[in-house]
Amino acid sequence: MNFIPVNEPLLDGNEKKYLNECIDTGWISSEGPFVQQLEQQFATRVGRKYGIAVSNGSVALDAAVAALKISLGDEVILPTFTIISCAASLVRAGAVPVVVDCDRNTWNMDVGQIEEKITPRTKAIMVVHIYGLPVDMEPVLALADKYGLQIIEDAAEMHGQTYKGRPCGSFGEISTFSFYPNKHITTGEGGMLLTDDEYLAQRCRSLRNLCFQPQKRFVHEELGWNMRMSNLQAALGVAQLERLDEFVVRKRRMGQLYTELLVDIPGIQLPLQQTEYAQSIYWVYGLVLKDEVPFDALSIMQRLAQQKIGTRPFFWCMHEQPVFRKMGLFEGESCPVAERIARRGFYIPSGMALTSEQMNLVASTLREELK
Ligand SMILES: *Cc1c(COP(=O)(O)O)cnc(C)c1O
Repeated sequence: MNFIPVNEPLLDGNEKKYLNECIDTGWISSEGPFVQQLEQQFATRVGRKYGIAVSNGSVALDAAVAALKISLGDEVILPTFTIISCAASLVRAGAVPVVVDCDRNTWNMDVGQIEEKITPRTKAIMVVHIYGLPVDMEPVLALADKYGLQIIEDAAEMHGQTYKGRPCGSFGEISTFSFYPNKHITTGEGGMLLTDDEYLAQRCRSLRNLCFQPQKRFVHEELGWNMRMSNLQAALGVAQLERLDEFVVRKRRMGQLYTELLVDIPGIQLPLQQTEYAQSIYWVYGLVLKDEVPFDALSIMQRLAQQKIGTRPFFWCMHEQPVFRKMGLFEGESCPVAERIARRGFYIPSGMALTSEQMNLVASTLREELK
C-alpha cells in the first residue's frame, strides 16, 4: 500500500477545460474573465453582495484588517486555537490580539468568554470557524451590537457550511475564505473576501492592487499589496465551485464513515457530528487523545507515519507562540482547553480524493497502534 497523504484534492470536473480556455485565449493574469466570474458566483453562493478574490486566505485577513482600519493599539478578540494568519494580520497592523479559550467539544472559541475580554480599546471580534462546525454566532452578534464592535469572520474552513441555515461567510463586516488545496474547494493557492458594504469592497479591491488610483495610477495615498488572483487560479475555482454541494455531501459521508470505523476505539475523542445549529462538514477529521492515553499526539503521529499514513497536529495556541512571546504579548495568559488539545489533538487523512478503502486502512492501523 502506498503512503496515504493527509490531503489530496479532487480535480476531475471542468478544471482542465477551463484551464485550457485560459491558455487558448491568452488570459492568464488577474485581468482574465474567470476572476470576476468566481467573485460573483462565490459571493452569490454565500449570499453576499461583493467578492474580492485574492492570492490566499492569509492575505485576505491582512486586507480585511486594513480595510476596517484596525490599527495601532486597537484590541481584537479572537480564539487562541487557530492558524497563525489570524493573529499575524493583527500584530502586523500594530493591533493587539486578545485571545479566548475554546470549547472542549466543538474546538471553537468559547463565546461565553468574549464579554469579559472587552475593554474601551476593543475594536473587533475575529471569529474563526474551526475544523467543521461553525462558531455559535448569535451571542457574538449580540455582543458586537451591544458594544459597537466590528466582526471579521474567517470562514476559510467553512465552504458550504451554514449556521442555523444561514451561510457561513455571510456574517460580520467582512468574511474571508481560503482556497488552499485542503479546503472544500481549491484554486491551488487563493482566497476571497466577502462583504455587503460597497465602501469596504472598494477598499479591499484597492488594497489588493497596491492602492493604484484610477486617475493618477502611480500616485499612492495608502500602502496596499499585490494580492491579486490569476485567471488560472480562478478557472480552477469556477470549476470547483460547480461541485461544492457534491463535495459537502462527500465530506459528510467521509466523516460518517470514519466515525463508524473509530467509535469503539478506546482512548480517542472523535469530532462532534453536530450541534443544535449545524451538522459538521468535516474540513478535517480531528482526534484528541483522552487523558488515559499515556503519550501525546506527536508520538502516535510518528507511528502512523511509519505505517505510511499522513497526519497533521492540531493548531498550536496563539498565546504559546514563541514569536509572539518574544514580542511581549500574552504574558500570563492561560487557556487550558486549547493548550490541552494542541498537545493531544491531530487529524488523519481527510482530503476530498480519499477512498473508503484508504479510510478503512487508516482506522485499522489506528486501532492497532492504540492497543
Ligand atoms: C487555511 C486557513 C487560513 C489561511 O489560508 P491560506 O490560503 O493557506 O493562506 C486562514 N484561516 C483559517 C482558519 C484556515 O484554515
